[in-house]
Amino acid sequence: MDHYDLIVIGAGPAGEKGAAQAAYFGKRVALVEREPHPGGAGINTGTVPSKTLRETALYFSGLGQRGLYGVDYHVKSHLTVKDFMYREQEVVRSLRQVVTENIVRHKIDLLRGQASFDDPHTVRVTQDGQPDRRLQGDVVLVTTGSVPTRPRDVPFDDPRVHDSDEILEMQKLPRSMAVVGGGVIGCEYTTIFAALGIKTTLLDGRDRLLGFLDAEVAEQLKIQMGLLGVDLRLKEGVTRYVPEPDGVRLELKSGGSLMADQVLVAAGRVANVRTLGIDKAGLAVNERGLITVNEFYQTSVPHIYAAGDVIGFPALASTSMEQARVAMVQAFDLPKYKTRVAPIFPLAVYTIPEIAMAGETEETCKQKKIEYGVGRAFYRANARGQITGDLGGQVKLIFRYPDKLLLGVHIIGEIAAELVHVGLIALQTECTIDMFVNTVFNYPSLSDVYKYAAYDGLGAVQRREAAEAPHPNDS
Ligand SMILES: Cc1cc2nc3c(=O)[nH]c(=O)nc-3n(C[C@H](O)[C@H](O)[C@H](O)COP(=O)(O)OP(=O)(O)OC[C@H]3O[C@@H](n4cnc5c(N)ncnc54)[C@H](O)[C@@H]3O)c2cc1C
Repeated sequence: MDHYDLIVIGAGPAGEKGAAQAAYFGKRVALVEREPHPGGAGINTGTVPSKTLRETALYFSGLGQRGLYGVDYHVKSHLTVKDFMYREQEVVRSLRQVVTENIVRHKIDLLRGQASFDDPHTVRVTQDGQPDRRLQGDVVLVTTGSVPTRPRDVPFDDPRVHDSDEILEMQKLPRSMAVVGGGVIGCEYTTIFAALGIKTTLLDGRDRLLGFLDAEVAEQLKIQMGLLGVDLRLKEGVTRYVPEPDGVRLELKSGGSLMADQVLVAAGRVANVRTLGIDKAGLAVNERGLITVNEFYQTSVPHIYAAGDVIGFPALASTSMEQARVAMVQAFDLPKYKTRVAPIFPLAVYTIPEIAMAGETEETCKQKKIEYGVGRAFYRANARGQITGDLGGQVKLIFRYPDKLLLGVHIIGEIAAELVHVGLIALQTECTIDMFVNTVFNYPSLSDVYKYAAYDGLGAVQRREAAEAPHPNDS
């Protein structure tokens, strides 16, 4: 039996970074992956593919340039699935190589096969046609991620019905697409399809999109989806999927039905623990099917850690990597340069337009009974916004009243996922919105929108102070 300081199960974003962290500090590490390529959902089926398809859709549709060249601007009409998928496959191939090189550079043993526990310190690696291998680990890190939920009543055996993994294998671009489920993945793919000119319907049982977003931003997304031609049906669900020769018929909760060439069911994700034999390690999943951990990502069995989607919220590639690093610092008592995952983290939704946020929304301020003010500024009033032609973008700052401490940043528009980091750092360093007013930003730059959002916030504070000041005639 091979002995390792650390056995990592699953080579997605969490597994790769956890393994590299321990190996960097000289630990002997085995990383077990059952798929042919490392990278997990982050690189192979989720984050990177969907974001690359978004860029492809933006490019071919000419959407990004329509503010400059007019609404009829297209780079290519009659797009084929081959055109659509080409760049996605190239980017995925390159990033698999990057991950593989990182694993090799850190002298990590990458073992192919399905891993399962024999006992708390022993992991069995099974691969078709090969004898099983048994590994002994002082520490084990479980980073097996998640897979799409596949509700039983959905006919996934029909090639026109996809989950968010299989959508990448679609053989033909449909003329019409129904997306069932308006979470992040459902919303992102909806706008990608709509941008390509595919007649797209999005169905969701809730009464608003993306409940974690600031309601004003969610409302803007709804409007922008309308401009893209999305048929958005909220408070709606599917009671039955009926495959027919010329499409899939969805019978709807509200009565009536909808025909679509193809269907994407984005019904959430479920942790990957089924074949892991966690009971043999002395572990169990909680009521939501997730592995429970403490603040150091340690399970109830002290030498077994878990990170990433397998522990649930926030289930992001970004946070998964950080969790695994923190877990390894703790497990091996490494130099304590990273003892926790930063409590404020950014969220990005790569819809068209892009959305990003960090910190409080107006709704969470109200729930927490925090007195707050708002400052807004728009890309259309910014030189870079005019140059790039993105006139619908906005930066919204939420700050505490009256001391102006920044509480939240909300952006919709071009490169929102990049711009949000300016606000994130301000949140992390507990700045007031005066900091934006007192900073010189590049001109022309979209970052400069922060300054004007802060001016707008200061104006709101002054108006409120003036309104609250005792009137001379009051005394
Ligand atoms: C469509 C889509 C878009 C997304 N977009 C974003 C985004 O924009 N930003 C963001 O931050 N996140 C995004 N995510 C989420 C992100 O992909 C996940 O949070 C992240 O991949 C989780 O990393 P992980 O390492 O925990 O798990 P995974 O990436 O799921 O990796 C787990 C790995 O473990 C392997 N494995 C499982 N069981 C075993 C076993 N028993 N033995 C051996 N190997 C095993 C799997 O094959 C897999 O390679 C998106 C996800 C999807 C699906």
